[in-house]
Amino acid sequence: MTQAGAEGTGPTDCLFCRIVRRELPAEIVEENELALAFRDIAPVAPTHVLVVPRAHVRDASVLDREHGPLLAELAATARRVAEREGVAASGYRLVFNVGEDASNSVPHLHLHVIGGRRLGWPPG
Ligand code: AMP
Repeated sequence: MTQAGAEGTGPTDCLFCRIVRRELPAEIVEENELALAFRDIAPVAPTHVLVVPRAHVRDASVLDREHGPLLAELAATARRVAEREGVAASGYRLVFNVGEDASNSVPHLHLHVIGGRRLGWPPG
């Protein structure tokens, strides 16, 4: 991760960078060196948490080998969130939306952790 992507240097108008910088409120459920997890403002299930990198990354389409440690931390954070939320045993879904057809609406990488009810497949 380059310094240009470090916390505090992300785009000033990026919604999730602003949450990371505590300029906007969010219900944070976990934070660590690389990631922040907070509740989705419009939950689609009893558990709906977003895990985001502190550093600005546009979306999953720009991920490459250099992001390996970051991706591992996002996945580990999602696992801990699922355990804490009580959905680890019943199951949950991890989602990266990319682009228009997937309805990606916030251009800062975020991993949806969705659970607490039976989820349909294929998704809508
Ligand atoms: P996506 O469609 O994958 O880009 O998901 C973006 C998610 O961010 C949606 O589920 C929104 O409900 C959620 N969201 C948007 N603004 C906020 C916010 N201020 N705090 C928490 N979640 C948000």
